Amino acid sequence: MAMTKQELVNFHNNVWLKYHKHIKIVFENEKDDDFHAFVGSAKVCLPKSVKTNQSEWTLLCFLHEIGHIMTNTCNMKRYEMEFLATQWALDEAKRIGFVVMNKDIQRFQRYINGYARKIRKNPPDLKDLLLKY
Ligand SMILES: [Zn+2]
Repeated sequence: MAMTKQELVNFHNNVWLKYHKHIKIVFENEKDDDFHAFVGSAKVCLPKSVKTNQSEWTLLCFLHEIGHIMTNTCNMKRYEMEFLATQWALDEAKRIGFVVMNKDIQRFQRYINGYARKIRKNPPDLKDLLLKY
C-alpha cells in the first residue's frame, strides 16, 4: 500500500536525522532527477524539490546516495558501486520499516544492469547483481 504524504515526509526527515551528523546532506540540485553522492567528502546532493515533494522513489534514491557513502565504493567499477549502494539502500529500508515498491527496485536493477552490460572484457554475470529484498 502506498504511503501517505505525512509518512513520506517523516521517513525523509528520519533518514536525514540518522545520517546528517556524519554525511553532509544538501538539497540544492535544480533538476528533479539529479541525485548525487561524493564519496571522498561524504556528501550527498539531492534535488531542491525533494524538500517539498517527497515520494517513495525519492526516498529510495536518498537511501541509495547514502549507500554510496556507507559502502565506500570509491575504487570499484561503476556497476559494482551502483549494485552495492542499492543493496545497502534496500537493507536499510528494511531496518527502518520502509516498504519499497517492486517497480522502484526494478528501475534500479535496470540501471545497474545497464552499467554491467557496458563491460566488454570479462563481463559480470547479471545473476550476481540481482538485488535482494
Ligand atoms: Zn548511484
